[in-house]
Amino acid sequence: MSSGLLIVVSGPAGVGKGTVVSLVREKNREVVFSVSATSRKPRPGEIDGVNYFFVSREQFEEMIRNNNLLEWVEYCGNYYGTPKDYVEKELEKGKIVLLEIDVEGAQNIKKQYPKCVTVFIKPPTLDELRKRITKRGTEPPDIIERRMHRAQNELMHSSQFDHIILNDTVKKAADRFLEIICVERNKLTQISGK
Ligand code: 5GP
Repeated sequence: MSSGLLIVVSGPAGVGKGTVVSLVREKNREVVFSVSATSRKPRPGEIDGVNYFFVSREQFEEMIRNNNLLEWVEYCGNYYGTPKDYVEKELEKGKIVLLEIDVEGAQNIKKQYPKCVTVFIKPPTLDELRKRITKRGTEPPDIIERRMHRAQNELMHSSQFDHIILNDTVKKAADRFLEIICVERNKLTQISGK
């Protein structure tokens, strides 16, 4: 996998992955973030090219046809996928590349890059997760139910991940994540003898 470190972070939608990841990126400037493409409409405050590359379904399907994506899924009626070029180039440069994707995507990436490090962020309870999704106020009730159903499924797969982080507070979760990055980075340095 070249000299970089690929870290895949997953966990139920609404668990607060984005907030934890933002804090991690603030504190460790070596970490670069892969912006996914999606056909979902932007939520208020989301910026094209920062949160996601927002594209139409047709544009996304063209990316699939052109083999521009490392992996992709269809989730609650929208496409999500990881642009291949960016990840490969940053890994070549030796960067720590972070992907924030769903569990299916994480499993997919692990098959392609067995040396990647997978991290699962879990909510304190399912009730707490429901509160967090509802509080966000951006999803209609039927989508909330679909997301909760999927969350239960995803939690069942958490034991397949290399690391599990409980997101009780964002600060604690981010600190734990930073430790994991440090440990994995050191392992890699020792293996490659750098
Ligand atoms: P949301 O609509 O809440 O931003 O994201 C929904 C789900 O899609 C989340 O679990 C998120 O991690 C996942 N996701 C975002 N980007 C990607 C991607 O590129 N690939 C995959 N497989 N899942 C993604």
